[in-house]
Amino acid sequence: MANKIQTLQPVVSRQLQQSFLKKRVAHAFLFAGDQGTGKSLAAIWFAQLLFCSNSDKYETAEPCQVCHNCQRIAQKEHPDVQYLVPTGQTIKVDQIRELKDSFIKSGVETRQKVIVIEDADKMTRSASNSLLKFIEEPFGQILIIFLTKNQPGILPTIQSRCQIFHFINLAEDNLLATLQNEQVPVSLAGVLSKLAQNLDEAHQLMTDDWFSHAYEEVTHWYELIKQQDWYSFIYIQQKLTKTFKDKEQQKLALQVLTYQFQQDIPTKETNLSIWSEKQWVRAMELLTEASQKFQANVSFQNVCEQFILRLFTKLD
Ligand SMILES: [Zn+2]
Repeated sequence: MANKIQTLQPVVSRQLQQSFLKKRVAHAFLFAGDQGTGKSLAAIWFAQLLFCSNSDKYETAEPCQVCHNCQRIAQKEHPDVQYLVPTGQTIKVDQIRELKDSFIKSGVETRQKVIVIEDADKMTRSASNSLLKFIEEPFGQILIIFLTKNQPGILPTIQSRCQIFHFINLAEDNLLATLQNEQVPVSLAGVLSKLAQNLDEAHQLMTDDWFSHAYEEVTHWYELIKQQDWYSFIYIQQKLTKTFKDKEQQKLALQVLTYQFQQDIPTKETNLSIWSEKQWVRAMELLTEASQKFQANVSFQNVCEQFILRLFTKLD
């Protein structure tokens, strides 16, 4: 299994091994990436690494795969490694409560526990909030691993408390690298690699006059937002509504803005982002709400204006 993770996700597997060897395992991981990028495999592999009873692991950073712990985890039968999956469409607060109760009963303080939450974006708001308390006041050694195909669907307050691992989709990654080799600017290449299925499609988008114009307009909007310039409010009616006319186009505008925010995520290691952690979390929350309202048929202009109003009035 280890080889598979290393092949699928060389960067992530090295990061995980380093955090294990340096004994700097966070309380919460977020594994974000498309279907088939190895998120569940990596969660199982890392749980094995934590519980493996073979001491070679402190040198190799590999679970042995043969000890009792490794085998029970592979079969999803280890009592200290729990899995949460959506029941129906959502992960509900009752599921979180049950989990907490079972931990309290089994005497948490001394033992390592791992919780793997699949499709974590399907947690209801109350389930997320209940789980946040776990992260904020971790009792005992608990590691929560959130898995998601839809990172923007995870509450920003959870995202900001997690160490985030991006599981690369090889096709998307190759496309991104190819575009960057062609001197396409980083942020545009990032957007194209998510929107286009292949290089041809990416080239078509780049030469599409409407797309180029639309992309520049959203980029300029984001620049205004970063400067907390109130012109970004007027800009919606003056510019955006004239360029983004139908529902599909408007959806694209919100997607591009979301990618741009995502590229500026503040991390603990670097202070490169223009946003403080609090500001970024707030912005992402509002942006998620804006997208939800837009999907529920509130008008594009309305959701954008509300977004700016609420962002600027509570930013400091
Ligand atoms: Zn083992």
